[in-house]
Amino acid sequence: MNSSVVLAETRLILRLHRATCTKLISLSPCSQRAHSDNWSHSWTANNRSYSTTGSFSKAIYYFSYHTSNSVNISTGNNICYPNSSYPDNNNQEDFNKAVVADNSDNSVMNLSTVISRLNNFAATSLAESWDNVGLLVEPSPPFEVTNLMITNDLTELVLEEAIEKNINLILSYHPPIFVPLKSLTQRTAKERIIVKCLERRIAIFSPHTSYDAVENGVNDWLISPFVAEGSKVEPLHPVTSKCYATPGRYRVDVIFPIEDTEKIYDQLNCIDGVSQVFRLTVVNTTKFTMNCTDRGLERIVAYVNSSSSEMAQQSVEIITLDKPPIPNHGMGRKCKRKQPITLENAVAMVKQHLQLDHVRLAIGEKCALDSPIKSIAVCAGSGSSVLKGVKVNMYVTGEMSHHDVLDATSRGISVILCDHTNTERGYLHSLKDKFTELFDNKVTIHLSSTDTDPLKIV
Ligand SMILES: [Zn+2]
Repeated sequence: MNSSVVLAETRLILRLHRATCTKLISLSPCSQRAHSDNWSHSWTANNRSYSTTGSFSKAIYYFSYHTSNSVNISTGNNICYPNSSYPDNNNQEDFNKAVVADNSDNSVMNLSTVISRLNNFAATSLAESWDNVGLLVEPSPPFEVTNLMITNDLTELVLEEAIEKNINLILSYHPPIFVPLKSLTQRTAKERIIVKCLERRIAIFSPHTSYDAVENGVNDWLISPFVAEGSKVEPLHPVTSKCYATPGRYRVDVIFPIEDTEKIYDQLNCIDGVSQVFRLTVVNTTKFTMNCTDRGLERIVAYVNSSSSEMAQQSVEIITLDKPPIPNHGMGRKCKRKQPITLENAVAMVKQHLQLDHVRLAIGEKCALDSPIKSIAVCAGSGSSVLKGVKVNMYVTGEMSHHDVLDATSRGISVILCDHTNTERGYLHSLKDKFTELFDNKVTIHLSSTDTDPLKIV
């Protein structure tokens, strides 16, 4: 029996051969252009679920890799395929080559490829949990991106500019959808913007706090004027990995008398949600150490309580495991300098970096313009919560409430306020060249000229 992949114009069917069975796996609806990167699918085979996003060749590779099956490919008649180099056997190297060939032959970039590269640049998982980041508006496929425009905020004025410039994808640093929308009418500017984007087939991506947290992101840019030789820079609030370093949230120690060690070891190993059970026998006792989930913890405690061992019941120790921090990623930044600068110098450096004629300055108690500044903390945008309690000589942020400024100055900390988006926009402008490279020169990067901070000093 031949295994085959038949690719039709709008439907991709994968016929999979195993030693004892043949299954038909349907991946549909497929992109109208068979070689498009712009689709994602999930399917089941051999009682397991799979999903993939990306090009046809990647799907085949993924499928082959995850099912360890022979996949032979024959092509249908209606295919618009960029090259005929797809493998006709299950050689993994051929699949890899096919993926490379597929990507290099594309002269355009599909939305899913652009989004995946943006995620490689800064993972949306770095964003704060309250945030709303990632692809917020996605027109129906197929969807190719040729013109991307970067803006701090997506206002109606910015959208008009995008339409004039034939933009396909707007990267709006602040998410234009934050509070969930209950309707898409002409009633509010936010709703009108989303309606118009869909009508004009414009996608919206918002990175927001993922760009704040990422290494070399907004906050590293904001603190960069103060970073000199020997300076130490670190995030104020490191982001942590989404997963625990070891399975489970807790580590539990419990000591039993040496009798029945084997039986207890086996029983602990059989508890759902318990993993990595270790035992250490010293004199007449055995200490068991294991990792567990929340449910596993309940079951361990129940198991110990049901035992007749008072020693075990009194010896239980529970340690909560922390998720590991991701080095150099996190909210806000702190810089400790070897050589101090004066407050007056610091103000001039901020003005020059942000290209501003004016900033607002609150001088800390017992400080003056010639006071030495050795440590600086920054937070792009609105800094109150991120900067709260941080002990340095000076804060730089976009905005802070009156009372938070007073709290800082009372602790001898000077505060420079630059207005919200002035602490963000310069970083976005620095992305133009980086993104041109990120998208292999296939996407023209525009910076919005109508996006400005709404507040002006008059
Ligand atoms: Zn902001």
